[in-house]
Amino acid sequence: MDRIARVPVDAETRAPDGRTAAYVVGREDAVLVDPAGRTDALDEEYERRDVAHLVLTHTHPDHVGGVADYAEGTTVHALAGHEDRFRAATGVDPDRTVEDGDRVGGLTVLATPGHAPDHAAFAVEEPDGEAVLVGDLAVAEGSVVVGAPEGDMAAYLDSLRRIRDRDPDRLLPAHGPVIDDPRETLTRLIEHRLDREGRVLRAVEAGARDPDAVTDAAYEKDLTGVRDLARATVVAHLEKLAADGDVEWDGERARPA
Ligand SMILES: [Zn+2]
Repeated sequence: MDRIARVPVDAETRAPDGRTAAYVVGREDAVLVDPAGRTDALDEEYERRDVAHLVLTHTHPDHVGGVADYAEGTTVHALAGHEDRFRAATGVDPDRTVEDGDRVGGLTVLATPGHAPDHAAFAVEEPDGEAVLVGDLAVAEGSVVVGAPEGDMAAYLDSLRRIRDRDPDRLLPAHGPVIDDPRETLTRLIEHRLDREGRVLRAVEAGARDPDAVTDAAYEKDLTGVRDLARATVVAHLEKLAADGDVEWDGERARPA
């Protein structure tokens, strides 16, 4: 039995493959991460291991569907300061809170806000190096939604840099394949954001004022089906640009600073 089990779960997700990967880490004092639903495969991993803990990378709906089913018999951990959000998303009262740097079973908690305010990653030392369960922080291909109102672009960039600085050997994301080149992938995601930020800034400087006009100007690709996500991402970029003093933004309209 592998120390880390990765179990794809069908979930109501906007991720391209329609699935969220749950993970079970360890054999004893094991940790269940992101039970997106209850499935036979997850039941099997749950039963063959001594699962003592349940944690989430964050409380978005496509990560929590199985929390109530698997909570019994485990210690349920929520990120400190986000207990109400945890309760609202899962219907389960957390037994404990954890903070950045705490240990849960064999995992180390790494607060990585940005995609969601309560986002955390979990590092685990493996015989072949460090793996980090990154939730929705990173994907092997494409990019992650960091959308207003709850997405925070500056925090997201800091979180990407933080994990890159740790220099782990593997990233285990909630969506898409395992990432074997963390440094390259995290650098790609950082550059992707900075490139988009530049496009948003240039769109405002060229006269775009409201988020729809900025979205039209800042994206070249066809946004059919994902326009709402792109627009929310543009607003998150505008909020960061305003905080950096590069644009003026009143929540509805942007102007050059
Ligand atoms: Zn998410």
